[in-house]
Amino acid sequence: MIIENKRILLSSPHMSGNEQKYINTAFEENWIAPLGPNVDQFEMDIATYAGVKGASVTSSGTGAIHLALDILGIKQGDSVFCSTFTFIASANPALYLGAELTFIDSEVETWNMSPLALERALAYAKKENKLPKAIIVVNLYGQSAQMDKLLEISNSYNVPIIEDAAESLGADYKGKKSGTLGKIGIYSFNGNKIITTSGGGVLISDDEEIIAKSRFLATQARDHAPHYQHSVVGYNYRMSNILAGIGIAQLQVLDDRVKRRREIFDTYYQELSNIDGIEFMPELNQTKSNRWLTTLTIDQKIVKLNPYEVMDKMNEANIETRALWKPLHLQPLFKGNKFFEEKETKESIATSLFRNGLCLPSGSNMNQKDQTRVIEAFKKIVNNK
Ligand SMILES: *Cc1c(COP(=O)(O)O)cnc(C)c1O
Repeated sequence: MIIENKRILLSSPHMSGNEQKYINTAFEENWIAPLGPNVDQFEMDIATYAGVKGASVTSSGTGAIHLALDILGIKQGDSVFCSTFTFIASANPALYLGAELTFIDSEVETWNMSPLALERALAYAKKENKLPKAIIVVNLYGQSAQMDKLLEISNSYNVPIIEDAAESLGADYKGKKSGTLGKIGIYSFNGNKIITTSGGGVLISDDEEIIAKSRFLATQARDHAPHYQHSVVGYNYRMSNILAGIGIAQLQVLDDRVKRRREIFDTYYQELSNIDGIEFMPELNQTKSNRWLTTLTIDQKIVKLNPYEVMDKMNEANIETRALWKPLHLQPLFKGNKFFEEKETKESIATSLFRNGLCLPSGSNMNQKDQTRVIEAFKKIVNNK
């Protein structure tokens, strides 16, 4: 038994202990379906937590983005803008609908969508007479994008924003919950997220018609009729009543999870921020990140190691670390898609973050001893080169 050197994971599920109670109720009442009392309660709880009119839970965050785009009327050949610095799930649903994606660079202040790059992209699109039908703004690693600025720009072109807040559930933006500033927001409850239902997602909005439409489309778009009648394309995207039970219990501890992840970040920051060439992800004024993952960049000129070399060495110490998201405009899948940089430099901001960045283990169930092991291993690696 080598307990001393057990593997430390990036971010693993952290149950509260209350989940089983709601799962058991579902079994006792035989609500083993993609609807039922847990689903209704979970939707109400999320809407209350986020401070929005409604929530429609789904089988995944990806499904919620797909529904959001469909509700906003995105069709074959339409243009959709998306943050380039993100996970593929932000963009895949636009492809399901046959839309054309244009990618927008990051800014250094939040690592998220650059208002300057968005402005340039919209001005260009207007000139070409091909404005996007939606802009997908992603809040990475728990940090909100500069929604005030992005909304001002998008509103001036009359283009709605979908906030992909899959990673920023529980974070605050200027007194509001992250994910509630766009026309539609989505969260994910995938296994590695800050809270989880094993798999799942939710679409939130202040527009109750949008919520109703989401539930309708997510259950095969069945018309009001005494038989099965369908006028539009629908999906099977509703969340299971069993998994919604997990969600109810998880949401009750969300604020504790945010607190713990922020503590983990603070400890890393205290221990590692004075190392030459190491910079942590910033936190924008008047916002509170959930610090889902602690992320940093490594100046390779100073540290003399690239993130992959650090990752390999951390792996030898049985510690999981990960590169930052590879920007979508660099993905083979999007070869030839348009990309707007913040400014024309040799390397875009998103590319530079990707080339130099690293995520450290940040799970809320990681104990002090394990974090100390991560810190010691990291220090040894970057100091010994
Ligand atoms: C996890 C994630 C998603 C997708 O969520 P799933 O529930 O896994 O489908 C979308 N966008 C971002 C940025 C994510 O991290």
